[in-house]
Amino acid sequence: MVKITTPITREWVAAVERAACMLKRGYQATRVGDGVYQVRSASQPDTIHTIRIRNVGQLDATCDCPHGRHEGAKGHCWHKASALCQETRRVSRPPLSGEEIERRMARFART
Ligand SMILES: [Zn+2]
Repeated sequence: MVKITTPITREWVAAVERAACMLKRGYQATRVGDGVYQVRSASQPDTIHTIRIRNVGQLDATCDCPHGRHEGAKGHCWHKASALCQETRRVSRPPLSGEEIERRMARFART
């Protein structure tokens, strides 16, 4: 589970909505390393943007797209929102119980 310790602003909601729209079009941030995500630019198909998550709970991430690099830019790019959503999903997987592990392993058992 991720505890978000920063206010969810209207700008974040807008960015997440854009990310959800982009997901429907097949664009989604992919994890390439520890806290590092990449996503293809929607406007420039040859461009890949890299998002670095510094603190998921504080929605603290950087993006190397023109908007992300712009100091004091208003709002957030959907790249960051997509990466933060993915990271939240990744770390929120419930741990498996012993029973569940056994049940899953049983599928591979030869009878
Ligand atoms: Zn960006």
